[in-house]
Order: sequence, then C-alpha cells, then structure tokens
Amino acid sequence: MPLSAALNDADLEFKCLECGHAFVRKGSWFKVISTFKCERCGVANRIGYADKLALFEKHSPPFGSTQRPTVNGGPALTRWSGVGWTAGLSRPSAK
Ligand SMILES: [Zn+2]
Repeated sequence: MPLSAALNDADLEFKCLECGHAFVRKGSWFKVISTFKCERCGVANRIGYADKLALFEKHSPPFGSTQRPTVNGGPALTRWSGVGWTAGLSRPSAK
C-alpha cells in the first residue's frame, strides 16, 4: 500500500508521543524516516508504517479530489468520512 505522492509537498503534523509537542514536516520527509527525536523532550519517537499511513490518511484531501487513495489489491477507498477514507463497503452496485 503506497503512501500517496499527493502529500509529498504537504505539511503534515505529528505529535510527540511523550510530551505532545507538535512538529510539521513535509510528506516526503515522513516517507523516509522511521524515528524522530523530539526537539522539546528529546525522546525518540518511532514512526512505523502504520503510523505513516494513519498520518497520510488524516491529511488526505476530501472526496472529490483528483487524488483518490486506493488499497493495493483491495477495493478502492470510496468514502471520505471527515476523518479518513473508508473502504467502499457501501459502494452502490450496478444491480
Ligand atoms: Zn517530546
């Protein structure tokens, strides 16, 4: 499941798990790092792939955008819930 390239130049916010200090980096930065040392408390935050996915999902553009994330090998994500993309379980079928 690729992380959307649409957010490479977008500012994404991540909060330190230890002290809650928020920092902002580009999407492309989040793609390549795996840990981040908080500039406030010095704790090393581990940012796993699941965390990145959640982060990208949270910052993805709402429904109607030309950049629609899809699940690799699965159904396209078709609904924007206001929080994140949801799988197209309620996708209208032809018949
Ligand atoms: Zn911190």
